[in-house]
Amino acid sequence: YVGFATLPNQVHRKSVKKGFDFTLMVAGESGLGKSTLVNSLFLTDLYKDRKLLNAEERINQTVEIVKHTVDIEEKGVKLKLTIVDTPGFGDAVNNTECWKPITDYIDQQFEQYFRDESGLNRKNIQDNRVHCCLYFISPFGHGLRPVDVEFMKALHEKVNIVPLIAKADCLIPSEIRKLKERIREEIDKFGIKVYQFPECDSDEDEEFKQQDRELKESAPFAVIGSNTVVEAKGQRVRGRLYPWGIVEVENQAHCDFVKLRNMLIRTHMHDLKDVTCDVHYENYRAQCIQQMTRSLSDSLLCLVQLRRMQEMLQKMQQQMQ
Ligand code: GDP
Repeated sequence: YVGFATLPNQVHRKSVKKGFDFTLMVAGESGLGKSTLVNSLFLTDLYKDRKLLNAEERINQTVEIVKHTVDIEEKGVKLKLTIVDTPGFGDAVNNTECWKPITDYIDQQFEQYFRDESGLNRKNIQDNRVHCCLYFISPFGHGLRPVDVEFMKALHEKVNIVPLIAKADCLIPSEIRKLKERIREEIDKFGIKVYQFPECDSDEDEEFKQQDRELKESAPFAVIGSNTVVEAKGQRVRGRLYPWGIVEVENQAHCDFVKLRNMLIRTHMHDLKDVTCDVHYENYRAQCIQQMTRSLSDSLLCLVQLRRMQEMLQKMQQQMQ
C-alpha cells in the first residue's frame, strides 16, 4: 500500500475548502414564474428588492441583466450561487433581437475569463461564465413561439439551455404530455441544441439507470413554483392552495420540480460546468484565437508590404542620385 488511494480524499478536501460556484441564468417572458421558481429551488428570497414595471413603462423597456448572488452552505459545503435574471425579455411591443443583450452578456463573461486567463496573475480568476440557462416556455401556447425559437438558436452555442414548461398546474397531464412532445419535435425541427444529459455509465446500478431514463424522458420539465407553505395531508409543504385543492411543488405526480432540482443541484451541476468550460468556452476561445491570428497575419502582411515599398523607394533614390 503506497497511499495514492487517498488522492480522491485530498481533492475532496481541497475543493470543499475552496468552495464551489455556480451561475444560473433565467430567461423567458415576464410573469411566467421565474422568480418564484428560483426561490423554490434554493429556498431563499432572491427578489426582495424587485420593482415591477407597469405596462406603459414596459413599452420601451430594453432587456436588462440583473445579477443576484447568495452564499449558501450545506453540511460545511459552501456554494456561491449567482442568478442572472433578464427582466424585460419578450415584453416590448417589438421584440426583434431582444436576446441581443443576453448573448452580449454571455460573450462578455467569456471575454473577461479569456483576458484573465491570458494575464499574468491566473491564480484567483473569478469565473462569471453562465453555466446554465433555464428557459421558460409558456404553458398557454401550442408549442414554441417564434421568439422562443429565435432565443434558443441565438444562445445554444454559448450556454447550456434547459427548457422548462412554466406554470404546469395550468395544464392537465395529457395536455402536458402533448405539449412536451410538441416542444421536443420543434426543438428537433429547428435544429436547436439544448443541454444533453450525459450518457449513463454501464456499470451504474439499475436504480440509477432507471432514474436517468426517467430524467431524459421527462424533458422539457414541466414545473410549478410557490413562495408559500401550505398544509397538505397533515404535512407542511411548498404548494399552491386553490379552492379545489392543493398543488404540491415537490410532489412528482404534480410536476417535474424535483427532477429539475435533482438534475441542477444533485446530479448534473458539475457536468453543466464542464460542458460550459470544455464546449462553449472552448468554442469562444478558438474563435478569439482565430481572429487574433488573422489580424496578426494581416498586420504582418502590411509590414512586409511597407518594407518592400521602403526598399523600392530607397532603390529609386539611389538611381536618381
Ligand atoms: P416572473 O416575472 O417570471 O419572475 O414571474 P413571478 O415569479 O413574479 O410570478 C408571476 C405570477 O405568477 C405571480 O403571481 C406568481 O404567484 C404566479 N406563479 C408563479 N409560479 C407559478 C406556477 O407555477 N403556477 C401558477 N399557476 N402561478 C405561478
